[in-house]
Amino acid sequence: MISQNKVFADLPVTIFEQMSQLARDNNAINLGQGFPDDPGPEDIRRAAADAVLNGYNQYPSMMGLPELRQAIAAHYKHWHKLDLDPMSEVMVTSGGTEALTSAILSVVEPGDEVICFQPVYDSYLPIIRQAGGIPRLVRLEPPHWRLSEEMLRQAFSPKTKAVLFNNPLNPAAVVYPREDLELLARFCQEFDAVAICDEVWEHVVFDGREHIPLITIPGMRDRTIKVGSAGKIFSLTGWKIGFVCAAPQLLRVAAKVHQFLTFTTAPNLQMAVAYGLGKSDDYFLDMRAELARSRDRLTAGLERLGFPVLKAQGTYFLTVDLSPLGLNETDEQFCRRIVHDYKVAAIPVSAFYEKDAVTSVVRFCFAKKDATLDTALERLSDAIHRR
Ligand code: GLN
Repeated sequence: MISQNKVFADLPVTIFEQMSQLARDNNAINLGQGFPDDPGPEDIRRAAADAVLNGYNQYPSMMGLPELRQAIAAHYKHWHKLDLDPMSEVMVTSGGTEALTSAILSVVEPGDEVICFQPVYDSYLPIIRQAGGIPRLVRLEPPHWRLSEEMLRQAFSPKTKAVLFNNPLNPAAVVYPREDLELLARFCQEFDAVAICDEVWEHVVFDGREHIPLITIPGMRDRTIKVGSAGKIFSLTGWKIGFVCAAPQLLRVAAKVHQFLTFTTAPNLQMAVAYGLGKSDDYFLDMRAELARSRDRLTAGLERLGFPVLKAQGTYFLTVDLSPLGLNETDEQFCRRIVHDYKVAAIPVSAFYEKDAVTSVVRFCFAKKDATLDTALERLSDAIHRR
């Protein structure tokens, strides 16, 4: 038997791939993994096609095309009044997951503690462990999933090297208010910790809510690594274009990781994203309004069927709490049952926990056409009664 890297050898296949495979096997509607079922903005896709046909198709610069790095800096200046130097503070990666991996591996050394909040996105912990870091898990509680002084006081210590914070939070669909960000910022400064911020859902916020990047909170500018994703911003999840923004000394080391993970990213798609980031505010506000409408459609439909829905403030997801329904099954059993019996795939939220899991909450993706949502609801009409 060949001995292999234990961090990865013992991992399950990611829940998103598992549920998408079950959806394919069962010919089910996939409300699991988060991706829209429309083709995405045509002008941005045309810009990519044009760049493939008429543009540059060889290795672009390792840090990303200057056009895109400038567009990212201009975009954050416009939306958040954040001043970034495109050349020393912005890097393009092959998706948000790579951006996070580059950030974690650039900061964490053996023995360092890294604070993570449960529910926790499944890529964080293995990469922290690969770096020799020790995750300190802080449990957020439904239905509000907010931060508290007490939970941070228990988690932070002189061993804390970094905190990994996802806002808006997948799968809980919370957009954190300034108060929580200021609290977290205060602890990062007191304990001299780096904040690695997974903000890939930054534009997907509803009901007039504002996403506040942690890097803009006073005292955080030089200790925050901000991660974004064009796939989420433009509903083109397969493009895998991510960004890392951080002060030069932090970005410099993240770039050393990136150079040996993927080195660079398709230049034609980078060109199209640079074009997209410059679109007028209307595009972003319309996208939010359209997704909020889909959220409302799925929320109303599920509520009509008797499911208690925890309303989404952002992301592509809403969650349903099964506990009052008396189904006598876990979220995972429920998800396996509905994909087999009702041909609808969803994600069990317990997959976002390593210990003390909440096992009664299920995540549904609403970033779908009305007809897709309506058919899924029809199929689920009887799911609340076990047969
Ligand atoms: N972020 C996506 C989700 O939460 C999944 C991405 C992936 O499968 N790697 O559904």
